[in-house]
Amino acid sequence: MQVQNSFQTEQGILYLVATPIGNLGDITLRALETLKSVDLVYAEDTRITYNLLKHFNIDTKILNYHEFNKEVQGPKIIEQLKQGLNIALVSDAGTPIISDPGYHVVDLAVQNNLSVVPIPGANAAISALIVSNITPKPFTFYGFLDSKPSKRDKELTMLKDLKQTLIFYEAPHRITKTLEAMLKIFGDRKIALAREITKRYESVIRGNISEVLKISDNLKGEMVIVVEENKQVVVTTTTVIEDVLALIKTGLHPKDAISEVSSMRNVAKKVVYQEYLNWKDNNEL
Ligand code: SAM
Repeated sequence: MQVQNSFQTEQGILYLVATPIGNLGDITLRALETLKSVDLVYAEDTRITYNLLKHFNIDTKILNYHEFNKEVQGPKIIEQLKQGLNIALVSDAGTPIISDPGYHVVDLAVQNNLSVVPIPGANAAISALIVSNITPKPFTFYGFLDSKPSKRDKELTMLKDLKQTLIFYEAPHRITKTLEAMLKIFGDRKIALAREITKRYESVIRGNISEVLKISDNLKGEMVIVVEENKQVVVTTTTVIEDVLALIKTGLHPKDAISEVSSMRNVAKKVVYQEYLNWKDNNEL
């Protein structure tokens, strides 16, 4: 176990600073104060961050940290934090680490008992979820699906039975193919496609996958797909206890069999557990 008292440290702090996803008005006061006061800003793309900082008259030194140099830059950042420098990490837009670089350096910082502090702000996934009009919880944030169709379809198949709202990031040139795959694998579920959030041409398209597919070829810009959970009711001729016992017979631990049946049938785990206990009472001793 490790307890981080974020601001009680002699060493530098790693701030994860969210930046706007399109509308500069979404930068927070705390983000501006942090970007101004830290010793260094590490950015996914220094040019993009230079323009952002320039807009707000901030002249903190910017260095780069991205997927392709993280192995070199990560340890360098850790050394600088140990020397007492405060550092902000930003991505091109939105919240760092969320489908953006940063996880690797957070891991190193935590391993080295350094404080990692969030400066929350814009995020496309949560913004899309709250306007989607699709049940907001529970939800799974998936981010980008694999670009290879066979791997993408495997990922969708794995997600198919989840009783959770699903959130995906997608690029406009792949949206039609992705929706076609979703239609094939998920069925014609309710979705919301939130485009260009916080920008001038923001739009939210709510409908079934087949309806959105009729216009998806013409959709441009940045987009998030929010997909309704699997609402299919599983029709079975077996009883709950028969399902649990059948799974135990295949070698599953009773605890796992109960979990599996609970999610398969969408029945509370404690109900399945109670059935199992009743069965045990009647069939053992
Ligand atoms: N870190 C970012 C965040 O917090 O949302 C996400 C970065 S990810 C590399 C970029 C993807 O996020 C885009 O391809 C798109 O799916 C989504 N995205 C980012 N900005 C968006 C916006 N303004 N409107 C809709 N989707 C957006």
